[in-house]
Amino acid sequence: MKIQNKTALELYELYILNNSDFDGEFFVGVKTTGIFCIPSCTSKAPLFKNVEFFNTKKEAIQSGYRGCKRCKSEYYPMLKPNWLQSLTRSLTNIPLDELNINKIQELSMVSYSTVHRNFKKYLNTTPNNYIQNLKMKQAIKLIKEGVDLTTVGFLCGYNSVSGFRHSFIQKFGVTPGTLKI
Ligand SMILES: [Zn+2]
Repeated sequence: MKIQNKTALELYELYILNNSDFDGEFFVGVKTTGIFCIPSCTSKAPLFKNVEFFNTKKEAIQSGYRGCKRCKSEYYPMLKPNWLQSLTRSLTNIPLDELNINKIQELSMVSYSTVHRNFKKYLNTTPNNYIQNLKMKQAIKLIKEGVDLTTVGFLCGYNSVSGFRHSFIQKFGVTPGTLKI
């Protein structure tokens, strides 16, 4: 747990700076409203004296707090962060040859560690594997459209058809050629 040695004031600081790296690590109860939030919540920050901190969502709820409409703390972590939702949506429309880690970085507008952690948490994969998956899916589409394997392999980032074929077989258990039929 990242917050183990943090003081209440340090937690408060993470909260008022909307640090999404700590979402799920602690929850913030606002005494004046009876609402609890995740650290990245962008609601107006309450005074330090009006907040208390919880390690888990359950503790906040047991202490009588209700979920926040803005950060959907009640549903955390079932709900993907908004940036991740729009990121995955946008990525499906990116041309094959532009799909890479830099693109993820550019579109997400959060730190790489945040990207990495959230991919693990919500998508159960790494950004690299996610990109690779998307590429392979797009590759299938192109192959079906009749684009030759050399071109598709090249767009997917492979220097040779054999390298592309190898990865393709590893992933789907069939050769790219099989799908042409
Ligand atoms: Zn909130």
